[in-house]
Amino acid sequence: MSKPLIIAIDGPAGAGKSTVARALAQRLGLTYIDSGATYRAAALKVVESRVSPADPAAVLDSVNHCRITFATDDGEWHVMLDDRDVAGLIRTPEVTRAAAWVSRVPEVRQKLVALQREAAQGAGVVMEGRDIGTVVFPDAPLKIFLEAHPAERARRRLDQEQADGRSASLTATADEIRRRDQLDAERKVSPLLPAADAVRIDSTHLTAGEVVERILNLAKERGLIEKSGALNAE
Ligand code: C5P
Repeated sequence: MSKPLIIAIDGPAGAGKSTVARALAQRLGLTYIDSGATYRAAALKVVESRVSPADPAAVLDSVNHCRITFATDDGEWHVMLDDRDVAGLIRTPEVTRAAAWVSRVPEVRQKLVALQREAAQGAGVVMEGRDIGTVVFPDAPLKIFLEAHPAERARRRLDQEQADGRSASLTATADEIRRRDQLDAERKVSPLLPAADAVRIDSTHLTAGEVVERILNLAKERGLIEKSGALNAE
């Protein structure tokens, strides 16, 4: 039996990782896993426990007192917090801000990386995040680092916020993205950095469909999928 295919998609907030990773997984019949959802679930716990996200000891204590898991129906993976499906609760601005702090705590990362690896066990996956190619799956045969100009990332994130029914301004969204980029890039453990063997794609002037095509072409060139686009059985 061949090893299941793992495609890692990393990059900063708003670069289009979710749209691309989901579409790619669908095209290849792989499981899509959003690793950021695990940090968001931990952040939700911290917010609900009313502890400061910037206090690492308190964060660790509250994360140690909850159960974060993945459940699947309809082929999509939903993150669960203490057996509650929290997919709808982890996208608020408060949780988003807290997640960037919670993800700085090394022991929290250790726990969640173990969960992410476990979720991918035995299945072909497209996993998106910040450290998938560097830490979670350093041996992944295809690693993409997806980037876009900060102004374009802010615009896309604003569109998403509005589509989700939240009101936000472009300036506030751009500020939030800048703050998160800084926290993610400056943290000591697993900072946001492309893996040495990652292919960098700048999506500023590309549609999500064009990015997906580029990644499919890379997968073909590397013999990971057939010319027809089917997964390579070898
Ligand atoms: O990808 P998303 O925006 O949902 O991630 C939320 C936060 O979780 C990020 O700002 C980042 O701090 C953290 N994260 C991480 N490592 C990952 C995925 C997300 O540190 N692999």
